[in-house]
Amino acid sequence: MTFLECKHSNKMCSNDKAIKRFLVRNIVEQAAVRDVQESCVYDVPKLYSKMQYCVSCAIHSHVVRVRSREKRRNRDPPQRYNRPRKIQGRARLGFVQIYEEGVCIAKLCLNAL
Ligand SMILES: [Zn+2]
Repeated sequence: MTFLECKHSNKMCSNDKAIKRFLVRNIVEQAAVRDVQESCVYDVPKLYSKMQYCVSCAIHSHVVRVRSREKRRNRDPPQRYNRPRKIQGRARLGFVQIYEEGVCIAKLCLNAL
């Protein structure tokens, strides 16, 4: 059996018991994303981190819920929800608008670049 270190409490937790989550977050804060994206040709990069928690930390930080004693025996993976993916259009649309002080000064065609 292999052990993982919990990212929250540094407690060692067995690999099959640990709760693992892949986090995708914006590097820029939510309010500033649009401003940065409008002034930047490329999409703003995102922060990817794999989090692994022990059971007590996962429950404490609301990653998973407390289950009754009988239901804890259930080892099936949680049901997955297929969320419709947003089409990240900007780079694929073909056109990029360049702004200077809030005014669009040029339209670039990406297919031509
Ligand atoms: Zn922990």
